[in-house]
Amino acid sequence: KLHNQVQELKGNIRVFCRVRPTLASSEIEPANIAYPDCETDSKEVAVRGPEQRTALGNVTTSNNSFSFDRVFGPTSQNAEVFEEISQLVQSALDGYNVCIFCYGQTGSGKTYTMSSPDGMIPRAVQQIYAEATRLEEKGWKYRMDGSFVEVYNENINDLLGKSEDLDKKKLEIRHDTAKKQTIITDVTTVELDGPDRVDEMLKRASNNRSVAATKANERSSRSHSVFILKLVGVNSITGERSEGTLNLVDLAGSERLAHSQAQGERLKETQSINKSLSCLGDVINALGSAKENAHIPYRNSKLTYLLQYSLGGNSKTLMFVMVSPDQAHLQETITSLKFATKVH
Ligand code: ADP
Ligand code: MG
Repeated sequence: KLHNQVQELKGNIRVFCRVRPTLASSEIEPANIAYPDCETDSKEVAVRGPEQRTALGNVTTSNNSFSFDRVFGPTSQNAEVFEEISQLVQSALDGYNVCIFCYGQTGSGKTYTMSSPDGMIPRAVQQIYAEATRLEEKGWKYRMDGSFVEVYNENINDLLGKSEDLDKKKLEIRHDTAKKQTIITDVTTVELDGPDRVDEMLKRASNNRSVAATKANERSSRSHSVFILKLVGVNSITGERSEGTLNLVDLAGSERLAHSQAQGERLKETQSINKSLSCLGDVINALGSAKENAHIPYRNSKLTYLLQYSLGGNSKTLMFVMVSPDQAHLQETITSLKFATKVH
């Protein structure tokens, strides 16, 4: 039945919004954001799901109202969020290429949602592992290979390689246009032959980042991290073969630093981030436009070039727009919500 479950998610781009809880005492000014189940709509910004689960809905009570395929309020747990994406994740076992992004300003909850020990990456690997084991009964045998790269200043770095190589060894992207496959030259690949391997892998990636010249948290807010899980399955009964890829992407902070404030390295980072995020938006927009043979500008940034075969065509895309409830972040929040509405 696996093959039928994914039908409803087929083809298009979905956008989910998650509002994180207020943290500690520094955020004294409480949320000015209305989300599902909060007491009042008379807030400056409202984010709404389509009646929570059904077709797209609208809300018009606030000056700024945005609606998404699903909205998770501040009390939502990672388990609940994962539940909503588990079918999409599983479709990679059916041979789909899947991309899931977390977009939002620094501090909005991207890493918490995606790459924390409780986040989507370990949950996805565990679920895929469990499902692959179940499918053995039907003759399927899967091989799962994980890699983890960082796109920083338009360079691809290997987060699973030797830490001293992180900024020295630049990886290159090659496209096998015939097979529609992406090869990252010299990337470290880890065979995920058990559910525990993913934790090891996440630790290694975060250790590598923390020994880099820029402080780990600063660096991770200025780079995109891409977890790539390749799933190759062969069915010994039917002879079928399946090749799918799951890409889980923790994007660089979307906050716009004024160019005039930034200099040197910082300016370069800012320009790289702005370029790649706007290029990602352009690619998703172009894919969403009904025009046949529309030119898709994959080549305009390393991130979209890397993900070319997992965006568009027969692939599935989901974007989480992450939102901080802090009043001080409201302008960036609105900018993020606008971006996410545009790609929708
Ligand atoms: P980002 O990666 O977008 O910069 P983080 O994921 O690091 O943001 O989140 C910023 C802070 O908020 C972290 O301390 C994180 O633990 C906390 N946080 C984010 N989302 C949640 C959540 N849903 N529940 C509890 N704490 C959260
Ligand atoms: Mg982060």
